[in-house]
Amino acid sequence: MRSDTKNNPVTVDVKTGRIDYERIRADFPILDQQIHGNRLVYLDSAATSQKPRTVINALLDYYRKYNANIHRGIHALAEEATAAYEATRQKVAGFLGGVAPEEVIFTSGTTEAINLVAYSWGEKNIKEGDEIVITEMEHHANLVPWVILAQKKKAVLKRIPITICGHLDLTHIEDIITDRTRLVAVTHMSNVLGTINPVFEITQVAGRHGALVLADGAQAAPHMPVDIKQLNVDFYAFSAHKMLGPTGVGVLWAKKHLLEEMPPFIMGGEMIREVSFDRITWNDLPHKFEAGTPNIGNVIAFKAALDYIEELGMDNIRLHEMAITRYAIQRLSELEGLEIQGPLEPTQRGAAVSFTDPKIHPHDIGTFLDSKGIAIRAGHHCAQPLIRAMGKVATARASFYVYNDEKDVDALVEALIEMRRYFGV
Ligand code: PLP
Repeated sequence: MRSDTKNNPVTVDVKTGRIDYERIRADFPILDQQIHGNRLVYLDSAATSQKPRTVINALLDYYRKYNANIHRGIHALAEEATAAYEATRQKVAGFLGGVAPEEVIFTSGTTEAINLVAYSWGEKNIKEGDEIVITEMEHHANLVPWVILAQKKKAVLKRIPITICGHLDLTHIEDIITDRTRLVAVTHMSNVLGTINPVFEITQVAGRHGALVLADGAQAAPHMPVDIKQLNVDFYAFSAHKMLGPTGVGVLWAKKHLLEEMPPFIMGGEMIREVSFDRITWNDLPHKFEAGTPNIGNVIAFKAALDYIEELGMDNIRLHEMAITRYAIQRLSELEGLEIQGPLEPTQRGAAVSFTDPKIHPHDIGTFLDSKGIAIRAGHHCAQPLIRAMGKVATARASFYVYNDEKDVDALVEALIEMRRYFGV
């Protein structure tokens, strides 16, 4: 329970579902500072989110009070640490709509979770001539492992293109996903365009052809309710650090029968049942996929992040972000020539808003905004094929989360206006 919440439980306006931004902001110590003499306006949560005090305290508590290795010790500290670590797994299972905890594998992040599937499931199941389908809007984390696997296995890598509005173009989906398709790997929400993809519809097509579906939830899981059963996917990956949790922790969720059939990805301690020099048997799920000492303290602190999100309510977070996104798109549209990427309708997108200025390079935009205390991301956002398909070299991206509100949008737009004056355009 957040101690600060006890003092002031009003965090969400029950009528509007809007988050009490000032209260939330006060929970994030890092936000209470000046950058280059200006109030910090943090608009880079799609890269990594800030952490509330409860998460920071949970991490400190672990190191101060019960730091021990897990699953192996028989002393009090080890038992406490093991219980706290496994409590996060339970929490994640609930967060995903009530999946089995043993289907929740802790990794170092979305990247490792997807690599786990590529190396373990992919190595075993992809054969020459098989097809792997990805989309044009994938982050490199959900692209590079499949490119490499396809090359290694002489499989065919196909892609679903995007429309000029930044949606997946599903017109020819029945030609792209065929009986040779073994896996469709698709981002649930684009980190560049903000687009929320119709993952369930894609699983329907994939299912008719016996193909599995992996959804990259790195951008979706922090911002909208995720119910694995409703999504109907086979694999789902996401990162704690983008959802108020610590870095170095991610989740791979996969159907139990798939995990049982998959060989381990990393070998070592804890993932085995019995070892001799000529025969090794694997531990039960989920331990089979968690070799070595995991990121114990950070996994434990991740639960505090999920508690925080639960307290706010994921539906409220989504409503809050839709309102900010609508306002951001409206205000950014006031700047002549500024091009906003991706869908303009907030119900179809998340709160990562990419834009380009016709005369100013995104890196210059980022540098100028930084001088005003505004943190955004500029570059190719680890999605080079997408940026090329958009006909750009880079974009600027402002991304919003629970601790942002319209004031931050105003600060961004005012700084962009000043930037244009500064550059004389
Ligand atoms: N997928 C998407 C859509 C992302 O936005 C990111 C990170 O920005 C990743 C995957 C990789 O996440 P991580 O770096 O936490 O492994």
